[in-house]
Amino acid sequence: MFRFVLFLALTCGGAAVKAQEQPTFHYVVSFPKPAMHQYHVELRTNGWNRDTLQLKMPAWMPGYYQLMNYANNVLGITAQDEKGQNIPIAKTDDNSWVLSGIRQKAIILNYDVKTDRQFVANSYVDSTHAYLIPGNTFLYVDGFLHLPVSVEVEPYPGWPNIVTGLDNVDREPDKYFARDFDILYDCPFLIGNLESLRSFKVRGVEHRFIGYAMGDFDRQDFMDKLAKVVAVGVDIIGDIPYRQYTFIGIGPGRGGIEHLNNTTVSFDGSNLRTAAGMNQTLNFLAHEYFHHYNVKRIRPMELGPFNYDAGSPTNLLWVSEGLTVYYEYLIVKRAGLVDEAGLFADFAQNIRAVENNPGRHFQSLVQASYSTWKDGPFGTQGDAVGKTISYYDKGPVVGMLLDFAIRNATRNEKSLDDVMRFLYRYYYQQQQRGFTDAEFRQACETIAGAPLTELFEYVHTTKELDYDTYLGYAGLKLDIRERQGKKEVEISRLPQPDSLQTAILKSWLGD
Ligand SMILES: [Zn+2]
Repeated sequence: MFRFVLFLALTCGGAAVKAQEQPTFHYVVSFPKPAMHQYHVELRTNGWNRDTLQLKMPAWMPGYYQLMNYANNVLGITAQDEKGQNIPIAKTDDNSWVLSGIRQKAIILNYDVKTDRQFVANSYVDSTHAYLIPGNTFLYVDGFLHLPVSVEVEPYPGWPNIVTGLDNVDREPDKYFARDFDILYDCPFLIGNLESLRSFKVRGVEHRFIGYAMGDFDRQDFMDKLAKVVAVGVDIIGDIPYRQYTFIGIGPGRGGIEHLNNTTVSFDGSNLRTAAGMNQTLNFLAHEYFHHYNVKRIRPMELGPFNYDAGSPTNLLWVSEGLTVYYEYLIVKRAGLVDEAGLFADFAQNIRAVENNPGRHFQSLVQASYSTWKDGPFGTQGDAVGKTISYYDKGPVVGMLLDFAIRNATRNEKSLDDVMRFLYRYYYQQQQRGFTDAEFRQACETIAGAPLTELFEYVHTTKELDYDTYLGYAGLKLDIRERQGKKEVEISRLPQPDSLQTAILKSWLGD
């Protein structure tokens, strides 16, 4: 713990006003009754030179754009000082509690967290393992998200392993620290009897896959393929910004959540035994992996700093999610893990979804991005069905048209890859901020060297997509047939492409 105290002093020792108030945060997580789907959290905090303190639980987690109201899962919250005297605590709104009479006292807060749903975006504990979402676990003090935090996980019998993206304190396997709460909230924990697959290095950096209940599959073949996926993903941007990356397999289920140096993914290795299952899994892992660039670092202005209370709506999820779907397909193709027909089939699936959804006449990509907090990530269901679209479908399709437009306008000198590299270098590395809607468009048009008016009409309006023109730039065409009231689509090569079309297709495919 010495190193941690020193770290705090170095971080907060600057201004005189801060010298008077140097709060510290230390959490201990334990599992007194995992079979009841609950876990326990203790927070020790002191150094407060004030009378009251407002504690909050985030209402959502970045990466899953829905209000989850994690505070509803907090049970039996109590607060005491270092002498064991109770400190008054009152709930003041849906996700806040206020402690009073705390000046110069050490505060020991205790609460349970109940977990009733096994899902990637909330904590889940049972008798075999624990999956902890930090935003579902650790209360923060309003106004103090910038301070460092330490976390200790109490050992539980039969659960020898812990995996998280956080750094250890003094190499102790159950003690961790984060330089601020944004980093803490970006690093879920998986605890139990876990399996580590053989790690690989890309550009000298270690990449791990550690999981729970991973099933029966050829581990070496899978990790060889995943190494290729990561290498191709890195080649698109050309830089590795983390010291180690971890894929955390949380067991069978649906969905994954991306983070700066890790991702938690639902994973069942038995799916890898069919070609379709392998393709689906590699696409999914390429998607979650590429997100560490696109959304975590290459990001809309609104997605950082986060509003943990109310959510952080943006018009640009079609870029953050849609273009990540676009790149997942291209990464797997360029890694040599799917053939051209498989790539075309992936895109055809999204085009089919777009063209068969009457919602395309009612909602644009920016509207779908902004409304996801209300409509859900795949558009509304039930009564309002047919009035909304999914940016997971139309996003990659518009991404493909945009890429072909840039390649055609620059005689295949530039592509969407150049746009992503520019956004990474200029906004993430140099400006250290997100970009606005206008800055994203400007980046695309500057690299294309031409206005992309129609492309951005596809983004901002419900204008029908002109597949023939844009696919034609790459020597491709789309056949649409009507079968039993549904549109069937197929992408194929034009019979006699010219040299530019041939060059665009070749470089796009990575052949
Ligand atoms: Zn995603």
